[in-house]
Parts: sequence; C-alpha cells; structure tokens
Amino acid sequence: MSDTPSSLIELQRRFPDDAACARYLIALRWPDGFRCPRCAHDHAWMLETKAWTYECARCAKQTSVTAGTIMHGSKLALTVWFWAAYLMAGHSNGMSANQLWKLLGLGSYKTAWLLCAKLRRAMVDPERDPLVGVVEVDETTIAYRTAGDPVPARPGRSLDGRLPIAAAVEVSGDVPGRIRLAPITDYSATSPRGFLSCNLAAGATARTDGWSGYIGAPGHDPHVIGPMAAHVVLPWVHRVFANLKRWALGVYHGLRPKHLQSYLDEFVFRFNRRRNRPAAFRSLLRIGAATKPITYKMLIAPETTG
Ligand SMILES: [Zn+2]
Repeated sequence: MSDTPSSLIELQRRFPDDAACARYLIALRWPDGFRCPRCAHDHAWMLETKAWTYECARCAKQTSVTAGTIMHGSKLALTVWFWAAYLMAGHSNGMSANQLWKLLGLGSYKTAWLLCAKLRRAMVDPERDPLVGVVEVDETTIAYRTAGDPVPARPGRSLDGRLPIAAAVEVSGDVPGRIRLAPITDYSATSPRGFLSCNLAAGATARTDGWSGYIGAPGHDPHVIGPMAAHVVLPWVHRVFANLKRWALGVYHGLRPKHLQSYLDEFVFRFNRRRNRPAAFRSLLRIGAATKPITYKMLIAPETTG
C-alpha cells in the first residue's frame, strides 16, 4: 500500500476514519517508536479511555497523538485535518479558507481560516537546506489588498499600495530547482542582503540584475549580470513572479500584508514539491506533527518578517 494517497478516492479509502489517521500520525511523529516527551522513556500503553493517547510506563504522563503539534486541542476530526492537508498540499493552486469551508462543510469561515492558517505554518521544513549553485535573485512588488479591491499599482520602485518581495530560484542547467520568497521591508541595502544570507548556502552564486542592494552580502560573492534586460538574464525568477501574482489574485484575490510571509511560504511549499504532490501531503502532516501549537492570538498577530 502506498504511503501517500494520489487521489481523493484513495485518500478516502486509506483514511476512512480517525483511527486510520491516528495510526498514520503516530508513525510520522514517532518513526522509531513512541518516546515520552517528559522523560524520554520508550515504553507506554495506549489508553482505552482517551482517544489516541499514550501513558508513559515510567512517569505516567499522558500524550495524545496531537498533543504538542499543530493539531493540539483542535475539536475537528482528524479526517478533516487530513482532507484539508490533502487539498492544500496536493492541489496545484492550493485552497483558500473560503473554498475549504464550503468543500468540507465546516461550521464557520473562522474554523476554515484557522485550519488553513495552522497548516500554512507547517509549510516550512525547519530542516530545509539553503539554496546551492547558481541562483537567480530578483525583487518585485505585488499589489496588496486591504478590505476592498487591490490598490492600483505605481511604476518604479515605489512601495505605495504594493508589497516588495524578494525571490531566489536555483537553476541547474536549464531547469529551475527550489525557490525561496520573502517580503523585503524596503529597498534599502540591508534587507536584500539579509535575504541572501538567510537563503543561499555559502559558495552559491547569486545572479542578480546588478542592483546594488545585493552587493556585499555577507558570505557571498554575487555574480552581477548588469542592469539591462533582467527578464532575459533572469528568466526563471521572472516566471516565478508571474506565477506568484497569478496565484495570489486567482486564489486569494490579492494577498494581505499582515500574513504575507505565510502566503509566500505556501507558494514556495507547493512549488518546491510540484513534481511529487502526494509526497507534499505527507510532508505537510510530518512538519505539522513536529510544529508547536499555535493559538488564534498568535495567528492573527501581524507577522514579523526578516
Ligand atoms: Zn515519561
């Protein structure tokens, strides 16, 4: 039996109830067998009185399969989490809270929004490696949305009504590899340099359009292309920008500044797993099972970026 369902029918067959989901989560969370989070003892009993909960044989601490994870304290059935993870990770364009709300028949828009927001926080693998080799780097702006329509764009490097974003795309031969995206606070020299040092491995070559913001990035010696025809010398990063903008408008009707990094993380997650969507589902649940619980308050607070 395949570890990752490759269709909705298969998802339903493979995870018909919470028991099947719990078994899958247990295997993801404790691949080498259960370990007590308090005392690290490896012997425990599964309680019969509480759903999917171990009791440590040494210290008696009780640990449910969702305790201490992104699913901590959720009243939703595990099957709902699995459906949401499948739709968000597996669909080529992802899923907005509004779409999930209707598709899964959730109680309220807020429930759907929370579910999406929590899964989105599980879209960055803390173990991921920085980009290597030749990396196209560029920046763009994206029109943002407040309550109503997108604010009209203004040309040049003005930030009015637009959010500045930096992107990096690994290029191997003629094929794009992994990408990274981040909001940049302004067009001063500091922030793009920070973006490079956070996302490129030492020794990687940044191919840029020669904008001085990247020059002198610590630990890097960017190969500067020159200020002309960036779309010609940086074809992949420009294609990523075009896809990002289409996605932001198509799925979300424009991104909101407050949660920009999370939305960019979602785009990056899906792009970097575009060749193996079933694996993206597993990956999302695996990271989610290793991600600390996030409260509603934390989710609605403006993100700090950097
Ligand atoms: Zn213990």
